[in-house]
Amino acid sequence: MKRINLYFFLIVLVICSCKKSDQTEPKEEKKPLSDIYKPNTTVYGTDNYVKFIVGDLKSPIILASPHDGTLTANIPLRDHPDAVTVRDLYVTDLTLAISDALYAKTGLRPHVIINEIARSRMEPNRALEEAYHKNELANSLWKEYHTFLKDARQMVTDYVGKGLFLDMHGHGHTIPRVEVGYIVSKTNLNSSDAILNSVPATSSILHIANNSSFTFSQLIRGDYAFGTLLANEGVPAVPSKQDPKPNNDDYFNGGYCTLTYGSRNGGTVSAIQLETNGSGLRNNATERKASGAKIADAIIKYMKNHYGLFLDK
Ligand SMILES: [Zn+2]
Repeated sequence: MKRINLYFFLIVLVICSCKKSDQTEPKEEKKPLSDIYKPNTTVYGTDNYVKFIVGDLKSPIILASPHDGTLTANIPLRDHPDAVTVRDLYVTDLTLAISDALYAKTGLRPHVIINEIARSRMEPNRALEEAYHKNELANSLWKEYHTFLKDARQMVTDYVGKGLFLDMHGHGHTIPRVEVGYIVSKTNLNSSDAILNSVPATSSILHIANNSSFTFSQLIRGDYAFGTLLANEGVPAVPSKQDPKPNNDDYFNGGYCTLTYGSRNGGTVSAIQLETNGSGLRNNATERKASGAKIADAIIKYMKNHYGLFLDK
């Protein structure tokens, strides 16, 4: 018995000493994200083709404009038959107008990520293997863009605790309204409230749904849904209380970035894709300034109602 105890003691001693020696291995120093991305500076990728305009550490908002770039950087055309290459005209200017309005109304600058490369050469809103890039520069710019998004999301998680990522786009569909995308399928959006209430786990706002007193259908088309808040500001949107279902009309439910950086796969940052119409909303500077202020107001109300964050001054 005593011998067994001794062996046991020796084995434990060996295990403990192994662990100890592991712990004394030199650890790689990890810089805090706020050292890499200093608030109110702009961090650039290779040759300034993608950039991260770093906001205030207390801001819970991330905005991104992936499809309004114009530079080609000698990258060959994405000529795969499945590659969509159309530019989202004026969406970067609209995104900056929203950012300016948020700063004016809250005193907090959001984090903003912008791609300056033409979509015909580099596609940030698809998985890398489905982007059909034609050279390694396009791949490395894609990776830089996604590092910015990932790090912005981590900063919001670390410094605020929860937040909202709005991926900004522009559509050319017939009906002039903002298409609000939560990754929820058009079929589910066209279904009854009861069916919609059973699919929050398919959405990019799962963290909001899991922590809300609203049903999921209310979060999508109730009084305080993002689309409803937009429409209340005079920016027609679907789905919303005013326009609850896309029916058979054209509608984008959200792409790769909304899926990847929202809360569908966990985390406390939710994501919404905003597909904006051109006419009346973003086609000239006057429209962009006015819509930027309205969208900012909707965001502020959304943060109050769903995050308990009172951002307005
Ligand atoms: Zn787009």
